[in-house]
Amino acid sequence: MTEPNLCDQRKMRFMKKTVLITGASRGIGASIARVFAENNYNVILNYSKSEKEALYLQNELSKKGYSVLAYKADITKRKEVAAMFEEGIKAFSTIDVLVNNAGISQQKLFTDITEDEWDRMMDVHIKGLFNCSQYAVPYMVSKKKGKIINVSSIWGMVGASCEVHYSTAKAAIIGFTKALAKELGPSNIQVNCVAPGVIDTEMNAFLDEEAKACLIEDTPLMRLGRPEEVAQNILYLASEGADFITGQVIGINGGFVI
Ligand code: NAD
Repeated sequence: MTEPNLCDQRKMRFMKKTVLITGASRGIGASIARVFAENNYNVILNYSKSEKEALYLQNELSKKGYSVLAYKADITKRKEVAAMFEEGIKAFSTIDVLVNNAGISQQKLFTDITEDEWDRMMDVHIKGLFNCSQYAVPYMVSKKKGKIINVSSIWGMVGASCEVHYSTAKAAIIGFTKALAKELGPSNIQVNCVAPGVIDTEMNAFLDEEAKACLIEDTPLMRLGRPEEVAQNILYLASEGADFITGQVIGINGGFVI
């Protein structure tokens, strides 16, 4: 069989759906990028700092024949987000799915959190979500079709001590998801949210073995989660099988919250 020529490759790229994933150079975001690429999506892989990891992942996926665009943008900066959407649309003609995954975490007593730290936490999780969603929605409304999937956290549902700012931001993502789902329902756009439990990524590198054991003890499935398990649920929410699901929070936590 002959290899598709450049013109065919371009046509194929425009026939596929496109997903934009924020904070996708590592951890859960990188897993989401892999899973979507493997399932026939063009992938816009956003990153802000870890250029080396982002380009490595882009290269890994491109070598397998997947269409991937790694794009550097700090999602808290509106101009950078605007440029990212413009480039993404230019490359793939549309954006069908937005996964708001980027996040930061910090463990600190409430009274020790500085104003800057509080603002940064809200900026990355809430302003970033606002910025990216506001650029995605007009394209989706014009097509009367689209999916927005936000990454909240178990701590946005039940709260975590020493993470009041993180828990607050993650709870806000749930409120945002429900309100936007109501507003965009008539435009056939589904907005959902996943709330992972403790997933084995760099974000949890601070946990020692004892802390991990305590968390596992409280988890009926007796283990931490894997990034791919979050990614697979997000893939499902992006699929046609989930067309009647909107405004929901899917817990991916091994039964930690029952
Ligand atoms: P991670 O730290 O490995 O990945 C987060 C990514 O977001 C990083 O690549 C980081 O550079 C990027 N990012 C941060 N600020 C950004 C900005 N301003 N612009 C663009 N990108 C930015 O963490 P992870 O574990 O993969 O977490 C991914 C998401 O899942 C986060 O929203 C996190 O809060 C959430 N989450 C994680 C867990 C967990 O246990 N790991 C649990 C629940 C929810």
